[in-house]
Amino acid sequence: MTDKIYERDAYAESARGTVVFARTFGNRTVVSFDRTVIFPGGGGQPLDEAEITFEKSAIFEGGKGYVSFAVAEAYRTEEEAAEGKRKKSSEEEDGDDVYYELVSSGDEKIPSGLLSGKTAEMRVNMKKRKALMARHTGEHILSYEIKELFGAENVGFHMNDEFATCDFNALLDEEQISAAERAANAAVRENRRVFAEYFDEDGIKDVRLRKKTSWLSGKMRVVFVDGNDSCTCCGLHVSHTGEIGLIKVVSSQKLRGGTRLFFICGEEAFEDYVQKHRIVTRLGEKYSVKPQGIIAAEEQKDEKIRALTETLRKKSEFVARAILEKSERIGGFDVCISDVIDDTEAEIITKTGSGSPSRAVLYKKGDGRIGYVFVSPGASPESGREEKTSCALLCRRANELLGGKGGGRPSFASGTAEFAGDFSEAAEKFRGVFADTGLEQI
Ligand SMILES: [Zn+2]
Repeated sequence: MTDKIYERDAYAESARGTVVFARTFGNRTVVSFDRTVIFPGGGGQPLDEAEITFEKSAIFEGGKGYVSFAVAEAYRTEEEAAEGKRKKSSEEEDGDDVYYELVSSGDEKIPSGLLSGKTAEMRVNMKKRKALMARHTGEHILSYEIKELFGAENVGFHMNDEFATCDFNALLDEEQISAAERAANAAVRENRRVFAEYFDEDGIKDVRLRKKTSWLSGKMRVVFVDGNDSCTCCGLHVSHTGEIGLIKVVSSQKLRGGTRLFFICGEEAFEDYVQKHRIVTRLGEKYSVKPQGIIAAEEQKDEKIRALTETLRKKSEFVARAILEKSERIGGFDVCISDVIDDTEAEIITKTGSGSPSRAVLYKKGDGRIGYVFVSPGASPESGREEKTSCALLCRRANELLGGKGGGRPSFASGTAEFAGDFSEAAEKFRGVFADTGLEQI
């Protein structure tokens, strides 16, 4: 049975342990120690980031110095270790042993046959562990407050390196989430004691629990937040709530008729505040308003943009009509050539008017290139005019003459070209697109 130091002292960073089990399954080496500080993961909390260091002389003939291995995975039983897969229940259950799968950081093969009986130093990345403990305890408190205030149960919890999520079996609105968040942060500031006690099946009946994992039996670990939460949990927690610092729900979403909350705690919450404060300050400076006035300033700006867009649209239509009035009739097409219009006006020209006219536009684009569009609504296989008025055909000719790229259908085609010369030169070439096509007869 592994002596799990982390269960009674979540702050133990390192320990020396003796290998009591070492085996290779395929290319995976798994070891177990008589004692450990490395949390194997459980209760929604991931496996610790940790390093296990042996004296080289103990495991390699004539070796000098030390060799360290990282922990890739942890298992609760030898069967799990052999399969290389954890059972779902082992996420919650407090098993007797802990097995670690080692990974070599270098090229050295791990000599599992030589590890038995050897001692090693194990060390946990405590910065990361403490952040996870804070987040995990934050989850207990937040879940307690939500149940107390709104009766919603925590039905799922997950943590990764950046944030934690917690699922509740009821829809919670912004106000409700905010109220629970306030109550939880009050409990954080009260610096309440957090501790674990063990109960058997009889004893646990008298314990007021927010949540008891249904499949648990035998010796059960209950984690208490003094005067606040209590639930069965095999995870690791801070010793006093003050260490959490701050609990901040950063977003929420509806999930299967309930609500998923995304939240951060402690240092991450502080860093998030720093970053957001910076953004809000810059925006306030930009609009010369206090933070509370930023949204109104943004809405005013949106309104201005809407009005400007409308004015611009009217002007574009006016310009497009003026250009169209001056169009040249070449080869059955109304040909508009202008270096003062852009995509918007070109689009209006090809769409304005009645009687399905065939039109072509050559214009100078905002990015310095030139653009051309051909539209001939009557050109379809049924009309029998497909070949002669094919916009695709004209576009291909324009590509050749102007050195551009583009294409389309018989009724519509467009292209662009890099054209370094004078625009009037491009205009002349564009007129040439319609030469010798016999289109005048249509
Ligand atoms: Zn917990």
